[in-house]
Amino acid sequence: MGMKAHRSYVRRLSLSPEQTAELDQQGHAARALWNLLHEWWTWGGCTRRPTMRQTDEAIRQARKDIPWLADLPAQAAQQVLKTYLRAWKNFFDGHARPPEFKGRVRSRMSVDNPQASKLRIRRLNRRWGELTVIKVGRVRFRWSGSLPGVGREPGRITGARLVKDTLGWHVAFRTEQDRPDPEPRPGPAVGIDRGIHVPLALSDGNDQHHGPWLRAKEAERLLRLERKAARQWRARMRGQPASNRLRRTYDQIAKLRARAKRRRYDWQHKTTTTIAAKYGLVVAENLRLTSMTRSAKGTVDYPGKNVRRKSGLNRALLGEAHGRTIELLEYKLAERGGQMLPVPAAGTSQKCSACGHRDPVSRAGIKFSCTSCGWVGHADTNAALNILAAGLAVNGRGVDTVGRRREASTTRRSAYHPGKPARPRAAGEATPALAREGSEA
Ligand SMILES: [Zn+2]
Repeated sequence: MGMKAHRSYVRRLSLSPEQTAELDQQGHAARALWNLLHEWWTWGGCTRRPTMRQTDEAIRQARKDIPWLADLPAQAAQQVLKTYLRAWKNFFDGHARPPEFKGRVRSRMSVDNPQASKLRIRRLNRRWGELTVIKVGRVRFRWSGSLPGVGREPGRITGARLVKDTLGWHVAFRTEQDRPDPEPRPGPAVGIDRGIHVPLALSDGNDQHHGPWLRAKEAERLLRLERKAARQWRARMRGQPASNRLRRTYDQIAKLRARAKRRRYDWQHKTTTTIAAKYGLVVAENLRLTSMTRSAKGTVDYPGKNVRRKSGLNRALLGEAHGRTIELLEYKLAERGGQMLPVPAAGTSQKCSACGHRDPVSRAGIKFSCTSCGWVGHADTNAALNILAAGLAVNGRGVDTVGRRREASTTRRSAYHPGKPARPRAAGEATPALAREGSEA
């Protein structure tokens, strides 16, 4: 018995102007196809969805009727359909928002090359590798590390997706590797909560902080650019596409957002590695059970929290992407023989972790003081302790709870620093190369 590890490896492509033009064309066609599909699907309201076969038939017909749709290779078109259907499935399963139209300016272009056998990946020299892209031909990419299934590396590449971001076209290789089951590793158990005041609150008080993803100057600049874009958008001629000036503004905005995202990825990778190395069992709230109730207006648990935070500009500055943190943690734990245990998180913020008494009055800002038993601690630690207890109850390791709980509450009280600001990130601290690793487009 072994497990299959799936990872994505992102590499930067080096394209000639002709190759870039060809890929751009494919990217535009893929986006247009997505929008056609979306229009066709949502046209009749929610009453009757077309079947997979009808949709497939419609795509074939559209490729005959609309000449530029044929720019997109057939396999890539099939993949657009699959991705689109999966987007609906993710929505119905409660993991994601429903699919939307992809705008011409702001959406990211991508083209799939799903057949691994046609990629013919080869290493050229120390710095460059080469692959075949459908209708584009042989294309070079930066060899920034070994790839599973290429040369003597174990594993295999199962497909590729080409993605254009602010830095140009990249290739994301999907890979699969057989891993023997790691020895189960006994280690301390910990509960994790995405805190209200702390990005990641741990039940033993070992909280994980980070500063804002953008420095004050960068945030100011982003705000200025957002306003400028709004102004340029209003000033455009009615019915006309975005002006070149507006596109340039959007491009500058995208670059700043991408910078914030790289720093977030970097923090997520470092933090999850630290946690996975330290603990054997990590209990966290099950996002699949709560994502439906979580919106910009907050959650059932914390109504109205983060309203500003999730709106517009602030999303780029403070976005936590908690789901990705949990995903990373899950695979890093599995690699080390640890375990991730999801629990439903309803009510963890108002319940006292020491006596179980539930009273909204117990929580005041960052402080939790139980109105029944008098337990005092950080509100986020209290929630994390409740999550840990819920996990241990499921896991049958309840023996650990009491001791750990007491220990945690005392350490927390002594390390109680209300309003202590997190250290802002210095320039150049993010390592984009590392952050890119393992990110699926
Ligand atoms: Zn209590």
